[in-house]
Amino acid sequence: MKDIIVAIDGNAATGKSTQSKKIALFLNYKYIDSGAMYRAVTLYAIRNKISPKNLSQINLMLSNIKINFNFSNGENKTFLNGEDVEELIRSKVISKKVSSYAKVKKIREFLVLKQREFGLNKGIVMDGRDIGTVVFPKAECKFFFKSDINISANRRYKEIVESGIKTSYEDVLRDVSKRDFSDMRRVHSPLKKAKDSLEIDVSNKSVDEIFQYLIRIIEIKRKELN
Ligand code: C5P
Repeated sequence: MKDIIVAIDGNAATGKSTQSKKIALFLNYKYIDSGAMYRAVTLYAIRNKISPKNLSQINLMLSNIKINFNFSNGENKTFLNGEDVEELIRSKVISKKVSSYAKVKKIREFLVLKQREFGLNKGIVMDGRDIGTVVFPKAECKFFFKSDINISANRRYKEIVESGIKTSYEDVLRDVSKRDFSDMRRVHSPLKKAKDSLEIDVSNKSVDEIFQYLIRIIEIKRKELN
């Protein structure tokens, strides 16, 4: 069967990466977490005290950044210049700052090029905010996840607490809402549904229910293409 590109976009904390990893594992595809790439750039910028407004420093910074992934057994690890930053990039500080770096055109152009390189041979599942609209507008399968904001925040709150980090539900709700607000309103590649994307309200559905549904659609698409 021909390999395809599966693009999953949507609001923060709607379970895009959970589903993307399950699909990639099931199909034996690559998984690319594009949000992790924006988070890794943000980590580098914060460590080096580079403001999102300082464009000359941003340009220099991008020439020093290499991001790689290791996806095995359904688990994904993000590497920034060879360092495993998977945990660091999920911190509160990064979550708070990432949207202000994701607004910067130069950063987006740099990461979109990398994302397209990852997808050159297809056989890839990529999740993010602009995958179906900008990165792979011709992706064979496009999904757009939306959810009730309280359910999303509660989902993310549980994930954070389970990982051993202290936080409050109110803090998580504020972060998720602010990020969605900023991601939807930015000038370059705002978060929006591609016209040919299938919208899925994940609010009251189980992980397995959504997964079975996505796989059914993907298999239909793959059969059509053969
Ligand atoms: O997917 P995740 O929530 O980890 O993404 C973190 C942030 O990275 C988003 O809130 C958004 O600002 C940015 N992002 C983006 N475009 C993508 C993926 C993520 O702007 N394709």
